[in-house]
Amino acid sequence: MAIPATYIQELVARNDIHDTISRYVSLQRAGRLYKGLCPFHSERSPSFMVYPETQSYYCFGCGAGGDVIKFTMEMNSLSYIEAVRYLAQQCGMPLPDEDDGQAKLKARILQMNKLAARFFYDTLNSDAGRNARKYLRDRQLSDKTIVNFGLGYAPAEWQGLTNYLRTKGFTDDEMVRGYLAARNKNGNLYDIFRDRVMFPIIDLRGNVIAFGGRRMGDEGGPKYLNSGDTPVFKKSNGLFALNLAKKSGKDSFILAEGYMDVIALHQAGFTNAVATLGTALTSQQAKLIGDYARKVIISYDSDEAGQKATRRAMEIFEKEDVTVQVLQMTGAKDPDEYIKKFGAQRFEMLLAGANSALDFNLLKLKSQYDISIPEQRVEYLTKACDILASLNNPIQQDVYCSRLANETATDKASIKLQLERARNKSRRQQNYKKEKELLRRGVGRNIKVDYRQKGNTMPKAFAQQQIICGLIRDNSFYSLVKDRLTPDNFTDGDMKRAYIAFTGLVERQVAVDYATLAYHMPAESAKVLAGIFARNAEIIITGKDMQMHIENLLTAKLSQSEASEKSVDEIAQRLKALKEKKK
Ligand SMILES: [Zn+2]
Repeated sequence: MAIPATYIQELVARNDIHDTISRYVSLQRAGRLYKGLCPFHSERSPSFMVYPETQSYYCFGCGAGGDVIKFTMEMNSLSYIEAVRYLAQQCGMPLPDEDDGQAKLKARILQMNKLAARFFYDTLNSDAGRNARKYLRDRQLSDKTIVNFGLGYAPAEWQGLTNYLRTKGFTDDEMVRGYLAARNKNGNLYDIFRDRVMFPIIDLRGNVIAFGGRRMGDEGGPKYLNSGDTPVFKKSNGLFALNLAKKSGKDSFILAEGYMDVIALHQAGFTNAVATLGTALTSQQAKLIGDYARKVIISYDSDEAGQKATRRAMEIFEKEDVTVQVLQMTGAKDPDEYIKKFGAQRFEMLLAGANSALDFNLLKLKSQYDISIPEQRVEYLTKACDILASLNNPIQQDVYCSRLANETATDKASIKLQLERARNKSRRQQNYKKEKELLRRGVGRNIKVDYRQKGNTMPKAFAQQQIICGLIRDNSFYSLVKDRLTPDNFTDGDMKRAYIAFTGLVERQVAVDYATLAYHMPAESAKVLAGIFARNAEIIITGKDMQMHIENLLTAKLSQSEASEKSVDEIAQRLKALKEKKK
């Protein structure tokens, strides 16, 4: 069974390596890492290390090493897929082939939800649904939109749906677990959704996983009522209309505040709109958006509350590899109203002009300087580069450098140089803090390799390891390596395999962390890699370092030991060549 890279990434992200391992091993913090007694061999002083940064572990005593999946396998004698299944269960992630009681319950609830959606839809189109139909028409929803979203109506009865589901063979318990019914004081069931317009929430596989219900009048409980968490649904990681937005084929998503906004947007042709399910944006949802879109345009309400939510969402997206833009609407309170008032075309223009969070900060900075004065221009550029230092994407860096160059009539190359300086400075500042912490704890003394050493004296194997470490820590270093190195430059077989796996993934736009890479490599090589991460955990790798290592790899002569390391491959190749000659 092939597991998608994004699935493994999410699994690893949700099962923190420190949390997982500390269930078995008592870990103590030592600067950036944790140490403890190795569970895989008997020892008295700890040589087992856990590295939160790379989400890996390594034992300097017995050489055991890997990611959280490997640990779970070794610790519990599980196969890879069994370990994945176990970890998925630990964090409540669905797995396609579960076979226990929980899986059966999930299947029953999904079946029940499908029937409930059908029931709501049929009720909407019956006599009982007359008011609801009028309500949707008043909101200017077309029949096509109603069908497209599978909208329905929950009748104003206490046991409308409950009675229907009973005739279909569902038990009281299943209805309660599925959040469609609740029990009153006497233990009798009643419908949770009553006299509401119903919005089914559909996952990427087309399953109805939950419902949102909106009341039509001013009375009858909260305006929006949403399913609570069930075995098939977690409010904090679901997105409304993700199934449709994914199909839109666009690489940007519009994040709106509510169902009605999303539906209005889709009806107007913006089929890449999604919304959270009655909660503020969570980091899981931001991750999910990042999995499917490269850009997100936040289009929350223009009121105070909406703007506050926008700022919060911007902060949450900061950790994701996704470009964030913010829509600034005037003359309407939300996208729904805007489109009704001004039309889809105007909204399209609004989208095109949305400001990025970065632009927003740069504009603010620029307003503080008069760039016609040289001193102020220099200061503006310096500070602007400080802001841009957070950019990891080399293409983005380039775009902004060009823009700054045009804006200030300055040479682009010197801006790029300043940006590189700013990036180094921000890394140095972070590393300085970390090193200080390490020294305080006495781990700094373990740093043995002088990584700033230049020239051919540095072993070539070391350069290869540094390049791989650097690439995994900061994928954007790939732009430095890409045109200069081929897999054949890596004479160390494990590093070569790592490089091939890395390029394969990164070329497919997959963000590559250790676990993702490990999944795409032979187990033995993955283990070697964990050891290398462990030995280099304290070594800082900057863009300059990367360049130095590349240079080293391309120019340095093979040392004796390395030549003998390489000889196996070389001999094999020579033999092959000889054989071909003979023929
Ligand atoms: Zn060990």
